[in-house]
Amino acid sequence: MADDSEDERLLGVVASALVAIDEIANLTTLQMPYPPVVQRALDRIALHCLRRHASPPKSVPELVRWGYQRPLGKWPLRLPCDVYSLDEYLIDQDAGVPTALCHEVALCAETDNPFREASRQMSAMAGLAAERNQAAAFSTMRGVLAAHPVLTNKLLNEVRFTNSLGTLDEYLGVFYRPIGLEYQLDGAVHPCANCGTPLRPAAEQSWWCEREECRSGQAVSPGKALDWDAEILIQGSRRHRQFVSGPDRAAQRIASGLELPGVRVRLWPVHGPGDLLVDVPGEHTWTVMVVDWHSPALLGKAIAAAVDRHGTDSAAWVVAQHRTRADPGYLEIVRRHAAMADGKPQVRDEEGFTAMVRRRSEGSEHA
Ligand SMILES: [Zn+2]
Repeated sequence: MADDSEDERLLGVVASALVAIDEIANLTTLQMPYPPVVQRALDRIALHCLRRHASPPKSVPELVRWGYQRPLGKWPLRLPCDVYSLDEYLIDQDAGVPTALCHEVALCAETDNPFREASRQMSAMAGLAAERNQAAAFSTMRGVLAAHPVLTNKLLNEVRFTNSLGTLDEYLGVFYRPIGLEYQLDGAVHPCANCGTPLRPAAEQSWWCEREECRSGQAVSPGKALDWDAEILIQGSRRHRQFVSGPDRAAQRIASGLELPGVRVRLWPVHGPGDLLVDVPGEHTWTVMVVDWHSPALLGKAIAAAVDRHGTDSAAWVVAQHRTRADPGYLEIVRRHAAMADGKPQVRDEEGFTAMVRRRSEGSEHA
């Protein structure tokens, strides 16, 4: 973000490089010359280490090793302790892929409006739907994507057949690509029993789900396996899954929790910002942004930037419930970093928001 320190910006450059490396499906193709974003990160961290009299990573594989061997506090960077937990990593040690935190740092480094830029595909789809007058189909498409992190070719056709996607139908496939071998075990892919995201086999016959919600409680377990020969498709990039289709599941939960007399809810309006429009007629209308970030401080900073520069100040920001369940201080940190000179954005968790709307709707009934 624009007001970050030089060391924070360098962390952002490194995080972006690690995400770029992860997106190159076949790591054996990662040889010199490296993609510019990766080479730039290596050059900048090397120069920085020289200035700080620290030993630099000498190659891209060594930079990747730093990601899973060094917690942030061991990097030669001066990072604000109220934003970063110094015992956290950029690469997950069990799965060998960028952590949710790494994706957040990278996204914040690449844009000053993470909420709009998290999925350019989805922004393009919203534009197309608005142009073609396909508001209902757009909402259906978001619901389909929230429900199906993974599909077989056959299931994709069934989903297209059973959902009214209008003229957006031909674009559903754009959000999916063939799944990589890293998800394959014994001739099958194993979606998570909790969230449906394909699991990665981890050490000691355990499973790893990329969604932190699934890893925070009991052991991750697989649901019904998909046969590898069934042409399995995974949804979009990890960034899309983390920032769009994951939080969209929370948006659906909020919508079903507000199926109440006197409350009107619209999921994923195509015009204007917000994941939900919640209207208590005669009382209030909320434009709801649903968010699910690992780092409450980075989330707060991103909210402040969005409100400050892009005028989403009337939005209600609703945090996925599992975040506050895991950390009771989560909302307080978001609010502290989201606060600006001229006001404090409204930030609640799912239960807090739903309870507030319920109270307001009951109040309006009695008025
Ligand atoms: Zn899961």
